[in-house]
Amino acid sequence: MLDDFSFEQNIVYKTLINSLKNNKLNHAYLIETNGYPQALNLAIAFAKYLLCPKNYSNKNNCNGCNQCSNIDKNEFIELKIINPEGQWIKKTQLDDLQDEFSKKSILGNKKVYIINDASKLNISSSNSLLKFLEEPEEGIIAILITDNIYQLLDTIVSRCQILSLKNKVTLENLSTLEKIAHYLYNNTEDISNFIIEDKNKSMLDIVINFISYYEENHTNTIIYMNKLWHDHFKEKDEIYNAFTIILLFYKDLLNIKLDKNIEIFNDYEETLNNIAKSNKLESLTLKINVIMNLMELIKFNINPNLLMDKLIIELEGCD
Ligand SMILES: [Zn+2]
Repeated sequence: MLDDFSFEQNIVYKTLINSLKNNKLNHAYLIETNGYPQALNLAIAFAKYLLCPKNYSNKNNCNGCNQCSNIDKNEFIELKIINPEGQWIKKTQLDDLQDEFSKKSILGNKKVYIINDASKLNISSSNSLLKFLEEPEEGIIAILITDNIYQLLDTIVSRCQILSLKNKVTLENLSTLEKIAHYLYNNTEDISNFIIEDKNKSMLDIVINFISYYEENHTNTIIYMNKLWHDHFKEKDEIYNAFTIILLFYKDLLNIKLDKNIEIFNDYEETLNNIAKSNKLESLTLKINVIMNLMELIKFNINPNLLMDKLIIELEGCD
């Protein structure tokens, strides 16, 4: 589901999650793959997020509602995936789509169509699509996928919100600190500034030390909170970044529990494995929710002492 892309495609992920949360859904999205092999899966995950009755982006939360499992079985009429037939995407394919979507939707209030490999649109199918995009109907959302945006008509491109994916290969060999920089920032200047600053490397160590201490000593952590935390993180931005690291760390613990690859903390594999052993899968999911909720409070200037007390007490409640 969409949360599976929260690290590798963090920028696009945040854009998509927020578009629905903030009521800023577009009628059309254009995914530029840049060689990322999972682009179609990401598009389907986004469709699921839109069509799931509770708009879950996480497998553990949704746990297979009718809509999401029908999408997995390719039996969901509110989602249509159009692939090239032979060399081209044909005009008849788009006309059929239009016919089908003009019927009223049975479940929910949205319909999504994905055009995979949109550079295979020819002139006549491009024009059919354009008519569809020019008169957007309420609740119908288009997701186009292409390796080459320049092969599409400008008039199509200009009607879409462009989502440019990161090439996976560029991220795989990075250090943990570099990966975190990519997660926090969007442009190369901010990313390299973050990586060269010594204090960020020590921030990473301090946060991991804090998590390790907490996982071993539980509520006792509160007694040593100044030394473990407050002496190091004072400004709101620092605290927020430190919490982002905690969140990413617990997500990697969850990855280990789910037998998935470590996404970010490859440099701390041993620590991860040890902590993963002492946590149940359900506790980790609950802990991740606790951390995300507290991150919202940081935005609203919660008092740092209260924040950290709440963190420990609420984490304790997850076991
Ligand atoms: Zn669902």
